[in-house]
Amino acid sequence: MFDKILIANRGEIALRVIRACREMGIQSVAVHSTADADAMHVRMADEAICIGPAPSVDSYLHMAAIISACEITGAQAIHPGYGFLSENANFVQMVEDHDLTFIGPRAEHIRQMGDKITAKDTAKALGIPVVPGSPGGVPDMETAKKTAGEMGYPVIIKATAGGGGRGMKVAKSEAELEIAFRTARSEAKAAFGNDEVYIEKYLQKPRHIEIQVFGDGKGGAVHLGERDCSLQRRHQKVLEEAPGPVITEEQRARIGAICANAIGKMQYSGAGTVEFLFEDGEFYFIEMNTRLQVEHPVTEAIFGVDLVREQIMVAAGNRLSFRQEDLTIRGHAIEVRLNAEKLPNFTPSPGRVNTFHAPGGLGVRMDSALYSGYRIPPYYDSLIGKLIVHGRDRPEALARLKRALGELIIDGIDTTVPLFDALLDNPDVLAGRYDIHWLEKFLANEL
Ligand code: ADP
Repeated sequence: MFDKILIANRGEIALRVIRACREMGIQSVAVHSTADADAMHVRMADEAICIGPAPSVDSYLHMAAIISACEITGAQAIHPGYGFLSENANFVQMVEDHDLTFIGPRAEHIRQMGDKITAKDTAKALGIPVVPGSPGGVPDMETAKKTAGEMGYPVIIKATAGGGGRGMKVAKSEAELEIAFRTARSEAKAAFGNDEVYIEKYLQKPRHIEIQVFGDGKGGAVHLGERDCSLQRRHQKVLEEAPGPVITEEQRARIGAICANAIGKMQYSGAGTVEFLFEDGEFYFIEMNTRLQVEHPVTEAIFGVDLVREQIMVAAGNRLSFRQEDLTIRGHAIEVRLNAEKLPNFTPSPGRVNTFHAPGGLGVRMDSALYSGYRIPPYYDSLIGKLIVHGRDRPEALARLKRALGELIIDGIDTTVPLFDALLDNPDVLAGRYDIHWLEKFLANEL
């Protein structure tokens, strides 16, 4: 086992990894930008090292600075968290070239899944059902029109190198396609330096269902059921729950086995998420994320496992601590993402948190790097915390979420808490009756 792990991240996910390290008796090293000198992850780690100025490109994305921090502190492995360098295959290569261990999958798997066309081809070849779409990149307008015409409108144009919901455009007709194709390409070029796009059938009322998988790197693999992440704003998740309110045991077992088999065949190592759109009882693969997800705690809650611990175990060459038959679902869990944003327009609202009081009690988990007096810097993601509740069933989890939100105090800045207060009063949310478009309509009409 490692003696010391460096966490190449900040905020709540850095705390999450530090906590796992501490329980495993592993020393932790925090890295931080100058803007984060007072951050909670710096205070909580065993050691901390400044890796550069405030902008992420000069600090949390600065590969050489992070490798140097490992060498200075003697850390043997790097946990990337999510975002930043977590899905950067070149970084993984650099880590390995320095005889350090990357806590995550191999570079080749990150590369394979990072390119969405290759990812879809790979998924298809491994027996995973995919969304109908163009056979590969769509090079020009003529091909785009031909492909969309044959597939039937509406279609969605997506960037091969896409992520974070960027570079996606929907077209309901050939006239719309002309504009959508051009804008998608230029947005993709600007955001990812690669203007290749592909076309998919646009599903009208799907749910976003994702399967948590875990591989041991030697062909062994398990799945940990699904999360329903259909409540989205601008293709970004806002609330996640597990198990999915509309997924049956048979559907879970079937799609779970398909995913576990696939990543076993790949000899995939560590945590991964296979994302699907789910409509009329069918699953359609959209992409695979080769990292720990923001919403992993809902899965941890219902299975009673520590996914970060398993990531570290597998990276150190050990077996997973569970087999498929050991994994059973207990109850229901819901997570809400708390952002430092002002409603109704979700404008960033950084600044000083005068008072922070986390809720507690049975079945409540608060993952947050806030503290009273903390000044949220304006340079990074607006996620300031995740509130996760676990109950014996969905109604109990919902009641607990409402109760916990009532106890939470974040004073001095604007947050997305009022959104969740409103959602918890809504009959559709209470009934689990929503698709990926539901929240946008709710925001347009009710907030
Ligand atoms: P990103 O990597 O940018 O997050 P994804 O491929 O994961 O992109 O898609 C993000 C979201 O966009 C999905 O959860 C869904 O809401 C929407 N979406 C993607 N593909 C389709 C599709 N074919 N039909 C309808 N909605 C889609």
